[in-house]
Amino acid sequence: MSRDLPIRDSVALAPYTTFGIGGPARSFATATSEDDIAAAVAWARERGLPLFVLGGGSNLLVRDSGFPGLVLHIALRGIQQQPRGIFNVAAGESWDDFVDYALSLHMAGIECLAGIPGSVGGTPVQNVGAYGQEVAQTIESVRAYDRQTEKFVEIPRARCRFRYRESLFNTDEPNRYIVSQVRFRLHLRGLPSLRYGDLQRAFDHASDPTLAEVASTVRNLRRSKGMLLVPGDPDCRSAGSFFKNPIVTTAELASVAAALGVKPNGIPQWAAADHRIKLPAAWLLERAGFKKGYAEGAAGLSSRHTLALINRGNATCADIERLQDHIVATVQQRFGLTLEREPVLLGT
Ligand SMILES: Cc1cc2nc3c(=O)[nH]c(=O)nc-3n(C[C@H](O)[C@H](O)[C@H](O)COP(=O)(O)OP(=O)(O)OC[C@H]3O[C@@H](n4cnc5c(N)ncnc54)[C@H](O)[C@@H]3O)c2cc1C
Repeated sequence: MSRDLPIRDSVALAPYTTFGIGGPARSFATATSEDDIAAAVAWARERGLPLFVLGGGSNLLVRDSGFPGLVLHIALRGIQQQPRGIFNVAAGESWDDFVDYALSLHMAGIECLAGIPGSVGGTPVQNVGAYGQEVAQTIESVRAYDRQTEKFVEIPRARCRFRYRESLFNTDEPNRYIVSQVRFRLHLRGLPSLRYGDLQRAFDHASDPTLAEVASTVRNLRRSKGMLLVPGDPDCRSAGSFFKNPIVTTAELASVAAALGVKPNGIPQWAAADHRIKLPAAWLLERAGFKKGYAEGAAGLSSRHTLALINRGNATCADIERLQDHIVATVQQRFGLTLEREPVLLGT
């Protein structure tokens, strides 16, 4: 099996992550075809090794001891355009390159997701979203290797169970599916989405911005917050937002407000499903004393975005986890809310 699919031993994982942190993988393979995916799964199974699927490493924190199994890097390429705005995109394509390609064809639906790093295959996993759009709005189906039945399957959107930063792939059945291709339905010459406040304000005086103008504004906004990968920018050695925005009940909102001595409607908030309320995690961090640029040794917060934990240079995973634990404990003590980490933690 490994004759067809080269497998390397002891491969450093830090360079495969945007954090630039983490020990080695015991074994490492790169899949450029669906056959490679099936072969890698069989290889790991025969040896009783755990398998981890790696995309662009932009939502990943790898422990310093590394991973004692096979890391399978997804590098399948190809974009196939079909009638009626359908695009079949291989999982290893760069997400941001696909956004650019869609824009060049005047296709609407993902313009607000410009500038998000990572692979196309990584986007359904946490239902990537930003500036008022989510991939759930344009994904038609996901093609994936089912490790339970050992077959490739086509999973329609309704079965992907997309929610805020959650899906079938990371929550309901984690580790079961390896995404090989995502099918999107985009809209030829559709109007750009301007749902998000910062975006609306940017176009206050401009009428009918084009898709490309909206995407470019999103990229500029992201750059100003260190949320665009720019080589040499110390604020983007991160995994993006490190904590999810907590979704709370009205009683929980009332206790947060009481802790701050304000009225519940004095707290920034958005309506969420099931009569619950989404609170901005960055706002809570700031009120708990963690401001932009806060540092604890080699770990810290971005100087432009409170929610991004960054590697300030030679940080270890232990450094980042120490800061994470400090923040979680302080927010818990101050507001009674437990923040949840957004990036995936790999290793023991
Ligand atoms: C600067 C910066 C800004 C960001 N901004 C945003 C943002 O605005 N919105 C947002 O939602 N996210 C954001 N992120 C997070 C990240 O870019 C996305 O979550 C991205 O989709 C992760 O894709 P990836 O290929 O890098 O996945 P990885 O980090 O490689 O993996 C993440 C998880 O997905 C799984 N996975 C990856 N590929 C596959 C596959 N083919 N099949 C099955 N499982 C797979 C992995 O096993 C892992 O569990 C940001 C990150 C950074 C560094």
